[in-house]
Amino acid sequence: RQLENILKHTNLNAVVSLYDRASILSAASVAEQRAPQSAHPRSPYGRIVLVKDNICTTATPTTAASGILKNFKSPYDATVVKQLEAAGALVAGKTNMDEFGMGSYGLNSYHGPTTMSRIKGEERSAGGSSGGSALAVATDQCWAALGTDTGGSVRLPAAYTGVVGFKPSYGLLSRWGVIAYANSLDTVGVLGGDVDCVEGVFDALNVYDPQDPTSLLPSTRSHFGSIRARNSPLRIGIPLDYNISTLDLTVRTAWRQSLQRLQERGHTLHTVRLPATRHALSAYYVLAPAEASSNLAKYDGVRYGNRAEGVDGTPESVLFAKTRGAGFGPEVQRRILLGAFSLSAQAIDNYFIQAQKVRRLVQQDFDSVFKAPNQLVAKSLEENDNGVDVLLCPTAPTLAPFLNDAKRQDPIQAYMNDIFTVPASLAGLPAISVPISVAEEDRDRELKNRDVVESAGMQIIGQYGDDKLVLDVARELV
Ligand code: GLN
Repeated sequence: RQLENILKHTNLNAVVSLYDRASILSAASVAEQRAPQSAHPRSPYGRIVLVKDNICTTATPTTAASGILKNFKSPYDATVVKQLEAAGALVAGKTNMDEFGMGSYGLNSYHGPTTMSRIKGEERSAGGSSGGSALAVATDQCWAALGTDTGGSVRLPAAYTGVVGFKPSYGLLSRWGVIAYANSLDTVGVLGGDVDCVEGVFDALNVYDPQDPTSLLPSTRSHFGSIRARNSPLRIGIPLDYNISTLDLTVRTAWRQSLQRLQERGHTLHTVRLPATRHALSAYYVLAPAEASSNLAKYDGVRYGNRAEGVDGTPESVLFAKTRGAGFGPEVQRRILLGAFSLSAQAIDNYFIQAQKVRRLVQQDFDSVFKAPNQLVAKSLEENDNGVDVLLCPTAPTLAPFLNDAKRQDPIQAYMNDIFTVPASLAGLPAISVPISVAEEDRDRELKNRDVVESAGMQIIGQYGDDKLVLDVARELV
């Protein structure tokens, strides 16, 4: 059925390449005979899974939605793809994205924009950069999909399309074979229709990988979750700094309702301050382009990347410039210029170094409000009794924008969408976005003149390594 849906929904442009259909079908029937799916609600066994196009696969091209990689076919599968297949998942194809992961609307793609028309047939943004993965899940083109989240690219599209999107703690899932955008932030994430499905995929991938130098060692992993009993009631933190004046009314209502729901289940609510949050976005947009400018230097038409036409025999500088000018889209070029500037001798102190300091402050803010210590940095493993177990806040300030409005926005406006997702990225914390629909009576009271009522994405952020707790709270909300 999902394979049929992929063919039926080509107009959405969520899927950019497909594995061989006959072999998926035969694998599916073998899987079905061995173990009927109903027996395994969480297991990826025998399920169709799609993978973002910046994750290497041998069966199809891996383009990262960039012209510079339009002909690239990886000689190996990424570790996460191998792990999915080892768990019996049927990897069936690749999903559309913003070029190299840079964007929030799915518009910056060599394959053309991803287009969501689920809500009243109007064309909206499915979000980015993992917009293809999110939309494929939302339109039942797969059971689950992999995305990558550097500053919100799994959580934001999940919020816009009404699915669950999980960014695990940095270093848990392997990045081997995942095309780098900003290494210190890049995280493979999972999108699915419900928390069980997302957790099933996460469990299959949450394994140490010696090929990824930032993969967390088994000795560190073994500490997670073992320190304290996870018994209710939990202390839920409400970060007041996320309550900005431009918050959409539906989003604000959904936030209040989710807090109420958790309170009704016996958890307690506590306001907290995360003052560095207001500088997090600026810091992110210095650090991520800086790392990107260095990562993308290798795409020059000689070492990597599709060489521009007619430049053979020209001096290297011309060959590089023409290849990079033709191969990279405008947003990627902007990031390369921004990054090269903020790392340059005259600017590094005022930009890159300052942003690194803000990043540290953001991490310290989180550590000061959580009950559990951050096991990567804490000197003692003592708990802060006045701290909170998890934070609950919106994933994005607005609902999915109309595609035409998104196209008209300037880059800074687009960057503003990431305001609630980048703090957890800078701190490497686990964070999940779950769809919360706004109840009818509230719609009538508060949204009188609005005709579109949808779900808003709510984000649960946990201490480093508290991935299972974040998933558990998410399950209580949806
Ligand atoms: N919108 C953010 C950016 O463009 C998020 C990217 C991501 O998480 N890959 O940098």
